[in-house]
Amino acid sequence: HTDVLRQTVSVLGATGSVGCNTLDVIERHPDRFDLFAISGHRNLDRLAEQALRFRPRYVVVPDDTGRTQLLERLSGQGTEILVGEAALADVAAHPDVDTVMAAIVGSAGLSSSLAAARAGKRLLLANKESLVVAGHLLMAAVAESGAELLPIDSEHNAIFQCMPSDHRRQGIASVLLTASGGPLRDMSAGQLAGVTPEQAVAHPNWSMGRKISVDSASLMNKGLELIEACWLFDLTPDQIEVVIHPQSVIHSMVRYLDGSVIAQMGTPDMRTPIAYGLAYPDRIVSGAEPLAFDPTLQLTFDTPDRDRFPCLRLAEEAIADGGTLPAVLNAANEITVAAFLDRRLSFPDIARINEAVMNQMGAEPVQSVEQLLSVDARARALADQALEEPRT
Ligand code: NAD
Ligand code: MG
Repeated sequence: HTDVLRQTVSVLGATGSVGCNTLDVIERHPDRFDLFAISGHRNLDRLAEQALRFRPRYVVVPDDTGRTQLLERLSGQGTEILVGEAALADVAAHPDVDTVMAAIVGSAGLSSSLAAARAGKRLLLANKESLVVAGHLLMAAVAESGAELLPIDSEHNAIFQCMPSDHRRQGIASVLLTASGGPLRDMSAGQLAGVTPEQAVAHPNWSMGRKISVDSASLMNKGLELIEACWLFDLTPDQIEVVIHPQSVIHSMVRYLDGSVIAQMGTPDMRTPIAYGLAYPDRIVSGAEPLAFDPTLQLTFDTPDRDRFPCLRLAEEAIADGGTLPAVLNAANEITVAAFLDRRLSFPDIARINEAVMNQMGAEPVQSVEQLLSVDARARALADQALEEPRT
């Protein structure tokens, strides 16, 4: 009976790049998915359009201004407007919800990701910052509740697809995490000093939100993903090889002891991992173009340069020292990337200030969400302070 396949879905961060792609996949399969709730933060026009089109039971807005903005547009259509961060956790954990797409950007997504994990949902995790900040707690919550954690980040989705789930994992030699290298890959250190936000967000293969686009350009994204992979697949950093692959056709690979390497490939389109997560273990149409195996298909590889792109090294150091240090790095990076996008900081200063904040705060053992949130706030304050200081 087809009804056993029906899932009721909350999409958190529906107005963003991953959120819009998620609604695109959901719209292709009205026989499978019911939309329970959507949330947005800034682009409330888009949220209103989505609500009118999909008629979810709830929309979540950040504040009363947002509520007022949507109230008239949604009047009489049966969608209820909820306000604030607690409402995000509520629609993630609601008993009627099967599946939660966590597509908020930054550590702002942590509490709703945790709420979905604690409530035992199928958690489609795009919000990598949740795992970077609170990997211990999120993985423990998943194990305790029996939640189903499916990675949406394309690399981790690829690794998940290439990896056995049982005792045969003993046959794994390493994981190969591919990176496009971003739009600044071939620039000299001198050129990097003059990079503008427009140059940094112009990703060659993927169309994404601005924060993750800057992270891709600095290789911080790959660093965050390395930490994410350690938590998701119970790996140590030395079991992960970062490989530059500019075409983003191979989304990542698993290397086995017998010499086999299994890769997941496709056109670079987030609807593929999103559809995989939504329908798992089934396969459904996603809207992605099929990959053409013809002379235009190039697969080239290189090693990352940690001197020109120190954020990758910082992430490796953060996960090696462990504890709260990844949360420190993530918070500092959210501040420095926002400052770079506002033209208040040069591109190389992102890594310089991230490192300075890491050195100032160091690693503490992780105890609680409250502790992590206070570490996050302190790291943001130190990064803000460093923005005001003249360079020495
Ligand atoms: P985006 O900037 O396009 O969208 C972010 C979403 O989060 C929006 O809906 C926004 O309204 C919401 N949001 C922003 N700040 C918020 C806050 N303080 N509270 C609540 N909601 C808030 O970002 P994106 O590119 O869609 O990325 C979303 C997440 O997915 C990020 O963690 C990113 O690293 C990850 N991811 C994205 C892609 C991609 O292709 N875009 C790929 C892999 C992973
Ligand atoms: Mg990725």
